[in-house]
Amino acid sequence: MQFTTIPHPAPTPDAEREAAIADPGFGTVFTDHMVTIDYDEADKEAGGTGWHSPTIGPRVPIPLDPAASVLHYAQEIFEGMKAFTHADGGMAMFRPEANASRFNASARRMAMPEIPEELFLEAVRLAVKTDAKWMPPVDGGSLYIRPFMFASEAFLGVRPARQYKFVVILVSTSNYFKGGVNPVKIWVSQDYVRAAPGGTGAAKTGGNYAASLVPQAEAISKGCDQVVFLDAANHKWVEELGGMNLFFIRRDGSVITPPLTGTILPGITRDSLIAMLREEGLEVREEPYSIDQWRTEAESGELLETLACGTAAVVTPVGTVASPDGEFTIGTGGIGQMAMKMRERLVGLQNGQIGDQHGWVMRV
Ligand SMILES: *Cc1c(COP(=O)(O)O)cnc(C)c1O
Repeated sequence: MQFTTIPHPAPTPDAEREAAIADPGFGTVFTDHMVTIDYDEADKEAGGTGWHSPTIGPRVPIPLDPAASVLHYAQEIFEGMKAFTHADGGMAMFRPEANASRFNASARRMAMPEIPEELFLEAVRLAVKTDAKWMPPVDGGSLYIRPFMFASEAFLGVRPARQYKFVVILVSTSNYFKGGVNPVKIWVSQDYVRAAPGGTGAAKTGGNYAASLVPQAEAISKGCDQVVFLDAANHKWVEELGGMNLFFIRRDGSVITPPLTGTILPGITRDSLIAMLREEGLEVREEPYSIDQWRTEAESGELLETLACGTAAVVTPVGTVASPDGEFTIGTGGIGQMAMKMRERLVGLQNGQIGDQHGWVMRV
């Protein structure tokens, strides 16, 4: 598709941008531009793809009718991915096709239109190229890419909307967790669940995050960093954190990660770690792991490490698990060997320092 370019009337001055990206943290340093593409069901009915008016232009507020159905019924999905600088000055993204394909899986679950994968990738590449100057020149720096789509049709009846907006914005990012890699302390939610069988747990949709905010606040009030959710039906099986998947590394050379049964978000970092841990000679099994097993194996020493993983924080060790029944510590409560190794391997692949045997790295 041919993108229309709207020139930016007043890009951020160089000095201001350079100051902002020197230590951007996560989530507040936005770049100058955004991509938008509109969807209209009427265009599809007339024989088009539905997608029209692809544009790259200044990052500005989006006018929205007060009856836009996203504001009432939450038809919204998003993705999270990153672009990195390589030593030769070029940029690369990590497994962006996997994000495109997951975006469409989320779209199907939320009764939203799919976007052609090539158009998704083109939009993301264009956004990154246009704002390449916003790449933080710091170790571990990246452009965090946030593609999203929402129902923009003004209509208060309950049915899938006929109009949508797809948008890509970028955030300059250094480290998701301030202070680098630190073991996290996590709180086992007793009163809340993130996802139920048949629900939307496998879709990357804003509502899942809205539902996780109260339990996350509870975790913070208990002195923890993150919340971990158990399954809705039995309150027994460990599922995932609010935005990260889990791996249990055991002394006998096996690794367990909860299976994708519809209540867990299929993380791309999770999928990459399964492959990488197998390459280490470990036996990775996707099977349920209970909260009792977690405690027992941590206490007996059978469990060496627990890793939490996701695009934003890469790989983070879980040090301590707390609940109303008390706390337990995993290993020494510090940063385990496999956490470090997997983190270095992933980061090395992403920034081009390690050869890419998987075809995971796409040059921009
Ligand atoms: C995005 C997300 C993850 C991690 O997925 P990655 O593709 O590895 O970034 C895990 N859990 C939830 C709930 C998520 O939204």
